[in-house]
Amino acid sequence: MNEHSVLIAGGGPVGAIAALALARQGIAVRVFEAAAAIDESPRAATTHPATLEMLADLGLIDDLVARGLVARTFQFWDRPSARLIAEFDHAVLARDTSYPFVVQCEQHKLVNLAIERLSGLPNARYDFATQVTEVEAGADAVEITLRQGDRTERMTGSYLIGADGGRSTVRKALGIAFDGYTFPERFLVLTTPFDFAQERGCGFRSYFSDPDEWANLFKVAGNDGRGLWRVVFPTLPGETDDEVFNETSVQRRLQKFFPKSGSYPNVHQRVAARFSKGRAFLAGDAAHVNNPIGGLGLNCGIHDAVELASLLVKVLRGEESADQLDRYDARRRPINVKYVQEQTIANKKRLEAKDPEARAENFAFLRRTAADPTAHRAFLLRTSLLESVRAG
Ligand SMILES: Cc1cc2nc3c(=O)[nH]c(=O)nc-3n(C[C@H](O)[C@H](O)[C@H](O)COP(=O)(O)OP(=O)(O)OC[C@H]3O[C@@H](n4cnc5c(N)ncnc54)[C@H](O)[C@@H]3O)c2cc1C
Repeated sequence: MNEHSVLIAGGGPVGAIAALALARQGIAVRVFEAAAAIDESPRAATTHPATLEMLADLGLIDDLVARGLVARTFQFWDRPSARLIAEFDHAVLARDTSYPFVVQCEQHKLVNLAIERLSGLPNARYDFATQVTEVEAGADAVEITLRQGDRTERMTGSYLIGADGGRSTVRKALGIAFDGYTFPERFLVLTTPFDFAQERGCGFRSYFSDPDEWANLFKVAGNDGRGLWRVVFPTLPGETDDEVFNETSVQRRLQKFFPKSGSYPNVHQRVAARFSKGRAFLAGDAAHVNNPIGGLGLNCGIHDAVELASLLVKVLRGEESADQLDRYDARRRPINVKYVQEQTIANKKRLEAKDPEARAENFAFLRRTAADPTAHRAFLLRTSLLESVRAG
């Protein structure tokens, strides 16, 4: 094994988890993170049962639960009539998993936890403010160029993981297409301490269907553990930042609620044409992006990280031949298309449907599914990604 067995571009949640999964098995890992600090903007929070199982294997589950909120159920509402349409309860998965619930834990807390663990492992190193600018993936090694301020440095490793997010430098350097589309509307995330559970009877994960303006509502623990609610709305296509963030518009969107802060990401549905090329691999948002309805993007990214790490460990230890690494693209790409792209597109359509008949059909489907124990379980096995990790 050479000094740096695996180089990782990007120290977000996927890069940090990949590093931990490798380093715990004794593999020498270097993580290069372009930013000077962890991004604390409101992004992923929902950690599904399939991912909880993996985080438990990495020894992170207790800390994740302690820093987050456990949510057993999620709800679908009709926003115009303020009617609860259906509630799904992960308790029906009690025989399928040791974690029949989701944990709402902000993604920056997971990154911090992983970095903390990495700092205790002598074979792992995580560098902030270090950008990967160039990649050369040769037959026997990968070579990358790093930039730290004015300084540049070349580094060689056996393998490279591109976990450098949706705009991935690694993906571009490998010449891998990122096929799909970008929605005309952006998604606005507003954060408020207003207690929707007490005031409105909402669960910690609530999806609101509305022909005019759908919404998603989530409770997270917040940094002080006292709880914050995030409300996600679509903006209008073409709406400018000024129009979205002026007080009248924020108040209109939040109605009676009290905004604290907002962020404003573009939303895409895209999958890389392949997840690997030679000795370089793509994981997380570098490989696939999707709308956040269903909370699946990061979960699937963590699954990429854990599966890839497990393959790399076997190959680096000589237990498997290097051609087994082809299994990563062969397995993870179709899983993302089937379980993440399809579900998140369907979730968005369900919430934004305008035709009254289509809305009535959606509601009937949700009610029917929630009322039938077999269908209820099958629905949750899919939404929790347990079906995807048990497949093949
Ligand atoms: C509003 C919103 C809500 C969401 N909710 C959920 C949810 O509930 N559940 C869920 O599963 N997903 C959710 N997601 C998706 C989730 O946030 C992403 O899937 C997740 O951040 C992907 O992690 P990542 O590590 O692959 O990429 P990122 O988090 O983007 O991290 C990539 C890292 O790489 C660094 N980097 C970039 N370029 C370089 C370079 N050249 N060199 C070195 N470092 C580099 C970046 O600074 C960054 O730290 C949500 C997203 C949004 C926007």
